[in-house]
Amino acid sequence: MGEFWAWLGLVLASMAGGVAILWTVGGYYHLKYYVRRAHEPETWKCQPKRFLRPEQARHAMKLSTLNLMLGGFLSGNLVYALTRGWDTPMYFHVADYGWAWTVASAVLYFVLVDFLAYWTHRSLHFRPMFKAFHHWHHRYVATTPFVVTAMHPVEFLMFQAVSFLPLFLFPIHYIAVIVTLIYALVWNTIDHSGVRLTSRIPFQGPSMFHDDHHAHFHVNFGQHMGIWDRLFGTLRREGRRYGVDVFGGKGAPDGAEAPAPYVKY
Ligand SMILES: [Zn+2]
Ligand SMILES: [Zn+2]
Repeated sequence: MGEFWAWLGLVLASMAGGVAILWTVGGYYHLKYYVRRAHEPETWKCQPKRFLRPEQARHAMKLSTLNLMLGGFLSGNLVYALTRGWDTPMYFHVADYGWAWTVASAVLYFVLVDFLAYWTHRSLHFRPMFKAFHHWHHRYVATTPFVVTAMHPVEFLMFQAVSFLPLFLFPIHYIAVIVTLIYALVWNTIDHSGVRLTSRIPFQGPSMFHDDHHAHFHVNFGQHMGIWDRLFGTLRREGRRYGVDVFGGKGAPDGAEAPAPYVKY
């Protein structure tokens, strides 16, 4: 019977954890801007003239919360299995591999998940995937913090799968996994806030980068690090035309053929 309660505790804790982060971070930006500064959107909003309809905003809240509950249920079960002897390379004591590997593998894990998230997101922008799943998330052309995980559950599970995949590939300390997952949820919420926010973390771009993804659709696929879009040529360029029908990540020629420099974020 004790095992049942241990399992239930882990599942409920991880379900509540994700939802609590969403509502704490999302609620903070919602109150600070959408309530207190609702009268002056031009001073803070990425798209000052565009707002979600109230029913769309409520729908995003529900869908994001449900996905995080689904994700929490699955990751709670994963944690239960890992702590009950499921043999993966993941480890719990720094002494097992030492500090140098613990830090190096944490960085490697973060970068690898960000790389996989870029390609997962880019694959969701292939026409059939977009029509089947990803258009759910792109119904929100202007975003609010609660749009963060408002997506088709299949898409949410794809992102969750790539976050956990590296645990089976090489030894990673469990704290690195927890920190990376929390970091991802917090920053993705900020990136969906719809508020013009910048970051002091060198590799973490401003919220305008992902807001432009929602405004222009098939471009700027990266999650945290800007390098992937630069490397693979999908960063938004000046003088190119983008829109829901312009697939491929590189826009379309827009009038005169001119050099098309990357937009500076
Ligand atoms: Zn997208
Ligand atoms: Zn988004």
